[in-house]
Amino acid sequence: MTESVRDFARRTETPFLIMDLDIVEENYRKLKKAIPNCRVFYAIKANSHARVIEKLRDIGSSFDVASAGEIKKLLNLGISPKNMIFANPIKREQDIALAYDVGLKLFAVDSKMEIEKIAENAPGSEVVIRLSVENKHSDWPLSRKFGADSLVALELIAFANRVKLKPIGLSFHVGSQNYDLYSWKNAIEKASKIFYWAERHYGIHLSVLDIGGGMPVKHLKPVPTIEEIGEIVCETVFDCLGHLKDLQIFVEPGRSMVGDAGILVSKVLLRCQRGSEEWIYLDSGVFHGLMETIENFRYEIRVEGKDKEAKAPFVLAGPTCDSVDKMYDDASLPKSITKNDIVYFMNAGAYTVEYGTHFNGIDSPKVYFI
Ligand SMILES: *Cc1c(COP(=O)(O)O)cnc(C)c1O
Repeated sequence: MTESVRDFARRTETPFLIMDLDIVEENYRKLKKAIPNCRVFYAIKANSHARVIEKLRDIGSSFDVASAGEIKKLLNLGISPKNMIFANPIKREQDIALAYDVGLKLFAVDSKMEIEKIAENAPGSEVVIRLSVENKHSDWPLSRKFGADSLVALELIAFANRVKLKPIGLSFHVGSQNYDLYSWKNAIEKASKIFYWAERHYGIHLSVLDIGGGMPVKHLKPVPTIEEIGEIVCETVFDCLGHLKDLQIFVEPGRSMVGDAGILVSKVLLRCQRGSEEWIYLDSGVFHGLMETIENFRYEIRVEGKDKEAKAPFVLAGPTCDSVDKMYDDASLPKSITKNDIVYFMNAGAYTVEYGTHFNGIDSPKVYFI
C-alpha cells in the first residue's frame, strides 16, 4: 500500500473504497495478452462505477450486462449495444424487449422457456447456451443456479434454431474466485463435445466459446495467475477446437478486472468484551461493502500502524442493528486494536460497494480514485 493511500485515509471520512484505474487497465491488457484475440466483456456487476466503465470502454473492452438498468447505464456512457452481451440467463421480458429495441442482440440462455422469451421479444437474435460446469474449486459457486447439462444444452441449441434464433456458441462459468486451473480445461473439454454434436447431429455450426469469468484475485491463499489460466485455456482450445478456423473466444471477467485495484478503508467504532469473546465493530460491514464475507470469503486485513504487532482473535462485525452484520468469528487482528484505528481490506475492488445498502440509514462506502 502506498503512502498516498495512507495519507488519503487519514484525511477522509470512512468508510470508502479507493480505486486505482491504472491497475484496471493493466488487468485488461494482461488478459488480452494471456488469451490472444479474445473478446473481453467486463461483467459490470463487479464494480459498475462510471469511471471504471469509461476506462475499460476507452481501452476497447466490451461489457456483460444483467438487466435493463445496466444496459441504460452503459448506453448513457456512450457504449454501443454491439459491444454488450446480455449474459444473465434469467431476464425480465421487458428487459429483453428493451435490449432488442436499442440494438443489443446477443443473449445467454440456459433453459427452454428463456429461449421462448427471447424468440418472442428479440426475434432472430444470437444466443449462447450456458453449460453447467464443475464449480467446486471456487469460493462463490454458481453452478446450481445456472447452466444446462450437456444433453439439455444440445437440445437447447436445436430448439433455439427451430424458433429462428441464431445459436452461435456455448458459455460457462467455473464459479467466482476459482483456484483451480483445471476447472477451465475440464469445462472447455465438456463444451467442445457439444460443438461436435451440434454440427454432427443438427448441422448447426457453433463458433463462439464464452469462457465466462471466475479468474481469481489474490487474498490469503495462493491463486493461479492470469498468464497460467491463459496458457491452459489456449492449449485446451487448440487441442479440442483447433480445427475451427472461425472460433472466437469470449471472456467475461468481473472480479479479476477490478479486485486488486481497490482497497476498502474502514474505521473501528467499538472494542468490547462479550463473554469470552472480544468484539471489534467497524463502520463498514456486511451491508456496507463486506457482503462477500458471509460465505467466509477471506480478505487480507491491515490495521494502520499496527501490522507489526502480535495478533489476537476477535469477532469482527459491522455497524448495523442486525446480527447478520458480522464478518468473521475468528479474525486475527493486532492485539491493541481500538477505537478510531484505520482498517484496510486489501484487494476489495470487486463485489464490495456494488452490494452496499443504506440499511439503518448508513450510507454505502463512497468511491474515490487515485
Ligand atoms: C458475475 C458473472 C461474471 C463475472 O464473474 P467473475 O467471477 O467476477 O469474474 C461473468 N459472467 C456472468 C454470466 C456472470 O454472471
